[in-house]
Amino acid sequence: MEGDFSVCRNCKRHVVSANFTLHEAYCLRFLVLCPECEEPVPKETMEEHCKLEHQQAWRAVEN
Ligand SMILES: [Zn+2]
Ligand SMILES: [Zn+2]
Repeated sequence: MEGDFSVCRNCKRHVVSANFTLHEAYCLRFLVLCPECEEPVPKETMEEHCKLEHQQAWRAVEN
């Protein structure tokens, strides 16, 4: 079976539809998409992620 996928609006990943609602609720709450590498990163480690991975300070951009 191929499976049914939906694209998460938050992390832009393809998520199996059966898990989609759960995923998106979790994702919107806890993950942000890094503007540099486009990886979903937990909100609380975003500052660290940006410093370590991209040598720059994380500035929270809403939209
Ligand atoms: Zn997601
Ligand atoms: Zn990154």
